[in-house]
Amino acid sequence: MLKQYYNNLGINEEVYQFCSDIEERLRERFQEIDRIAEYNQLKVLTAMQKNQLSEAHLGRTTGYGYNDIGREALEAIYADVFHTEDALVRPQITCGTHALGIALAGNVRPGDEILSPVGKPYDTLEEVIGIRPSNGSLAEYGVTYAQVDLLDDGKFDFDGIRQAINERTRLVTIQRSKGYATRPTLSVKRIGELIAFVKSIKPDVICMVDNCYGEFVEELEPGDVGADMVVGSLIKNPGGGLAPIGGYICGTKQCVENAAYRLTTPGLGKEVGATLGVNEKFIQGLFLAPVVVSAALKGAIFAANVYEKLGFKVVPNGTESRHDIIQAVEFGNPDMVIAFCEGIQAAAPVDSYVVPEPWPMPGYDSDVIMAAGAFVSGSSIELSADAPIKPPYAVYFQGGLTYYHAKFGIMKSLQRNVEKGLIHLENQTKNDK
Ligand SMILES: *Cc1c(COP(=O)(O)O)cnc(C)c1O
Repeated sequence: MLKQYYNNLGINEEVYQFCSDIEERLRERFQEIDRIAEYNQLKVLTAMQKNQLSEAHLGRTTGYGYNDIGREALEAIYADVFHTEDALVRPQITCGTHALGIALAGNVRPGDEILSPVGKPYDTLEEVIGIRPSNGSLAEYGVTYAQVDLLDDGKFDFDGIRQAINERTRLVTIQRSKGYATRPTLSVKRIGELIAFVKSIKPDVICMVDNCYGEFVEELEPGDVGADMVVGSLIKNPGGGLAPIGGYICGTKQCVENAAYRLTTPGLGKEVGATLGVNEKFIQGLFLAPVVVSAALKGAIFAANVYEKLGFKVVPNGTESRHDIIQAVEFGNPDMVIAFCEGIQAAAPVDSYVVPEPWPMPGYDSDVIMAAGAFVSGSSIELSADAPIKPPYAVYFQGGLTYYHAKFGIMKSLQRNVEKGLIHLENQTKNDK
């Protein structure tokens, strides 16, 4: 009956069989992910109980938002989940870049230097910091930037980092996920080693971790290994698919306060900011997030194994351990990239009937194709894929609120490639035998 359903949804016999065989071999891997989800579920639940989350916290405030007890409970819960002193979790934080922007701007002063010891940060931060000249950047306020790249084998360049730290180094920014770069994603353990090294040279330096796409992938979070600030977006992992907007900054009391002064104003800080009824979604989303993240991870691992079996380069590969939810598949061919994205779109609960096309998106140096049919616009914890149409013709795929949906999306992506004659499964299975 299940197979019949897939057939009705356009998945043919050979695609179904090929994917089922792959999935069969992933059981143990999935069990390990379930175990991490179970651990994180209890972590979140514990924080909610400890802070005596109650029905009154799920209400709505308007206007200034003074004494918003729901907001205060939510922030206390975030601080406990991420093991930090305090947290700022707000719908007024418009996205991840904004959260990182205020975390940086609030915690540096003119004459200070920001150091990235893990190579170039996420694209949008280049303009925040002023790596690319930009109106209003930190560079315009006299904040300088230094960078030490990872070594060729992906290791930290400890000598280079030691040399780069100087009397002006105020803040070290560490990006956990590779984002859309080619370096490996950092495990929390490695982040901890890096923080310990930095602090051994300069104990009072602020270590900030861009935690985007990393939340709940492991048992540990950067706050467990000494990060002074942990920052991310609520329309990625920790919003659990329910948060309609928002960002968070967890960290020391001082760092969070400084960021809050930048989000609102000096003097007001955390005291204002009505939650307009979204608090309930933030809290429920956080509650669901560990399981949602596990679904996205399983989808990524399934995709890696399907396309690796077909001979494509996948990053991370089918067996390596995971530290974020992003999966890259290198097709080396634009038609396959487009077919992949068409399949993801066709699998969506929203806008499944539209066909994505590459277009010259502002800010990119090639056409870009994006597939997303999400309940929350632009949400990348929901099943989504995007790809610049240029060599090596890699598609980046992430999310899936449920594993079954992520799996179906991948099956559809393969089906589209088979229908267009770009991938031949018969040869594949024969070669295999
Ligand atoms: C998504 C992301 C950001 C920025 O988040 P937006 O919400 O898109 O502004 C920053 N860093 C990393 C690593 C990301 O993945």
